[in-house]
Amino acid sequence: MSIQRIKKNDVVIAVSGSIAGKSGKVMQILADHKSAIVEGVNMVKKCLRKSQDHPQGGISEKEAAIPMSRIMLLCPTCKKGVRTARVKHNDQMIRKCKRCGFLFEGSVK
Ligand SMILES: [Zn+2]
Repeated sequence: MSIQRIKKNDVVIAVSGSIAGKSGKVMQILADHKSAIVEGVNMVKKCLRKSQDHPQGGISEKEAAIPMSRIMLLCPTCKKGVRTARVKHNDQMIRKCKRCGFLFEGSVK
């Protein structure tokens, strides 16, 4: 069994580009595992066509996918994006912060 570097519901931080330093919860990992949708990060404005729901048309903001290479897992102890190591814990492979040793799945059954 492999373990993904970043998974759904992880809290991540963007590390490059105009969104650097913004953090949020992973809402969705895209099917190719190369990018993710992160809540409140990388918002793009979308123009809405006039429709029944939006008779005046309008602008909505929506999260755009972020390449995995631009986000890192946010360590609650280090308070920054960190690299993780995989360690065996209770017969499960879990992720550990390489800086402080925080276990990301330590409290999850
Ligand atoms: Zn840490």
